[in-house]
Amino acid sequence: MDTESALPSATTTPSRALATEAVHAGRDDLAALGLHAAPIDLSTTYPSYDSRAEAERIDTFATTGARLDGPPVYARLDNPTTARFETALARLEGTASAVSFASGMAALTAVLLARASAGLRHVVAVRPLYGCSDHLLGAGLLGTEVTWTDPAGIADAIRPDTGLVIVETPANPTLAEVDIRAVAHSCGSVPLLVDNTFATPVLQRPVEHGARIVLHSATKYLGGHGDVMGGVVACDEEFAAVLRRVRFATGGVLHPMAGYLLLRGLATLPVRVRAASASAAELARRLCADPRIARVHYPELGGAMVSFEVYGDPHQVIAGVRLITPAVSLGSVDTLIQHPASISHRIVDEGDRQASGVGDRLLRMSVGLEDVEDLWADLCQALSGEEPGARSVSARPARTAAGSAPGARQGVR
Ligand SMILES: *Cc1c(COP(=O)(O)O)cnc(C)c1O
Repeated sequence: MDTESALPSATTTPSRALATEAVHAGRDDLAALGLHAAPIDLSTTYPSYDSRAEAERIDTFATTGARLDGPPVYARLDNPTTARFETALARLEGTASAVSFASGMAALTAVLLARASAGLRHVVAVRPLYGCSDHLLGAGLLGTEVTWTDPAGIADAIRPDTGLVIVETPANPTLAEVDIRAVAHSCGSVPLLVDNTFATPVLQRPVEHGARIVLHSATKYLGGHGDVMGGVVACDEEFAAVLRRVRFATGGVLHPMAGYLLLRGLATLPVRVRAASASAAELARRLCADPRIARVHYPELGGAMVSFEVYGDPHQVIAGVRLITPAVSLGSVDTLIQHPASISHRIVDEGDRQASGVGDRLLRMSVGLEDVEDLWADLCQALSGEEPGARSVSARPARTAAGSAPGARQGVR
């Protein structure tokens, strides 16, 4: 077995590799049910002739937040289809539990509310974060008070009322990386939340490095096809129980159809991430060697995201792509490109945006599963500012001396 991709034995007995979990976790009971595909349960309510027993079950849920035995009573408590996705994602992240939500932002909201309910409204966070996460923390919409700092300043920023430390690595949109183990150490007893949307558990499992809470916008790589919105938090069962109570009370549930699509998406996650990452690394290498590009951001960790700064007009590149789709979001089977200062990070104050490296010339590209030569040709024609079709010779430049290891492709950062 590939030991690198084996999951911690505490959570899987016997230990199965990540690629195996991706296609089997959350589906282990299907054969016994006489099924092959996971069933979709669209019920909003569940009949019961025993209301005394229901009262007891509701009391148990209200006091413990533990998952109910038997049918969910009402769809805002739980759902068997979304529960399969939660089981599978927890397996992939190596956590005891996972709790799903209607979107990544609903998931982050639930985490903040869960900590605030313990009287801990202060958050320490490292920029950049996804634009709306930055906004949710800073705008005071949930009464959160945030101290922004760099990784080295975390220990000093922690106060008695600090409930959470938040980092994204690689970060949206600069792909800046933080050392999770070092940051977790700085957090002491304060839980560290790592937004693992960009890396996915295929490339990085933050709990193995000391994070307590892992957040995903499931809308991105977990779904993987740009057709489902969701969020999920992977964590220990104690915190999951609080999150379930918050979710029940506030209602940001994942729809069962979305749960089904996310479970299906997980099956191909390792294959998609590895294939797209190989193309992204190659595009990053070629961009590094391209005189039209001022700077390329590509993580040491690898991954399918590439960001780059152009000397010319970034809006012209967005207007010029033909195969690549000019759209926000990421993690789909097709390649997307967007201008963070205009879209994904528009809601962040301009000064804060610039200070965290999100400049006006930065473009963020989510590399999909197209042939890398076709992607490069489209990028080249968009960068050249020529009309599509005007370029008659191959857009592919001569190979450069850069090596083939991901670290060597990084070039200028
Ligand atoms: C998109 C995104 C989110 C928000 O997720 P939604 O599903 O859009 O609500 C949070 N974090 C990161 C890193 C993201 O890219």
